[in-house]
Amino acid sequence: MDEKMMIIDPHVHMSSRTTDDYEAMAAAGVVAIIEPSFWLGQPRTQVGSFQDYYSSLVGWEPFRASQFGIKHYCTIGLNSKEANNEALAEQVIELLPLYVHKENVVAIGEIGYDDQTPAEDKFFRIQLEMAKALDMTVQVHTPHRDKRAGTIKSMEVCLEHGLDPANVIIDHNNEETVKDVLDRGFIAAFTIYPKTKMGNERMVEVVRKFGSSNIIVDSSADWGVSDPLAVPKTASLMLKRGISMEDVRKTCYQNALDAFSKNGKMKEAHWLQPDSINQSQLFNDNSVLRGQTPRIDEDQIT
Ligand SMILES: [Zn+2]
Repeated sequence: MDEKMMIIDPHVHMSSRTTDDYEAMAAAGVVAIIEPSFWLGQPRTQVGSFQDYYSSLVGWEPFRASQFGIKHYCTIGLNSKEANNEALAEQVIELLPLYVHKENVVAIGEIGYDDQTPAEDKFFRIQLEMAKALDMTVQVHTPHRDKRAGTIKSMEVCLEHGLDPANVIIDHNNEETVKDVLDRGFIAAFTIYPKTKMGNERMVEVVRKFGSSNIIVDSSADWGVSDPLAVPKTASLMLKRGISMEDVRKTCYQNALDAFSKNGKMKEAHWLQPDSINQSQLFNDNSVLRGQTPRIDEDQIT
């Protein structure tokens, strides 16, 4: 693959990943990532846990990414699983306005359905109204069970609330859902899983069949079995299988940039004219180095 090809992974939970992952991603061409707020593998019991998590997505994690030359953005929202604790969910909704205007927040997300319960439906709709009022992009998590019905329902609810489908990214698609999503004018994102669900061989065929308009590839890498290099690996495989460079560039870079840059927070200039890496910098007195010698790019040495 052309070493100069730039990659954006618009769905990756870096808080659960290591600095080795950041290094490998940067080496593979990843210039920017978007970290959606999600659940942590076990349900939180207090609103303060949400607050600290959101604070890390707009504070520590962008700093950590910057130490490896990657620009970090995030989406803020109450995830579908934890919407089912209604008393806590009410408090989380009250918190969101404190975060949605922070400088690296590019959308409301990831929100939507998990088990498609009434509580999930209630909090999905509340957050869609919030997105509409703020004119913000929405990143939708679709259920892994009862996928097609859940995906269609997610889109119908967005339309019912008057959202422009061009401002809504429907994630976790597969061959069964992609046509429904594109036909309705929404943006279709695909999460590439290393062993199950949607794999990168299948992604190549999706792009071959449906083209590159409104299609986005992401890794959704988190604390589970997943691959933070899924997007660069898929880009490489697409090229090997004869997909055009233009289609690869759109699905692994440009479409994500177009979809998530609408509120003006995500800018290509952030990585085309980057701040150089200076690992001697600290965030609230902390570094990522654990005693190693910091990397300081030459132009930072005075
Ligand atoms: Zn996710």
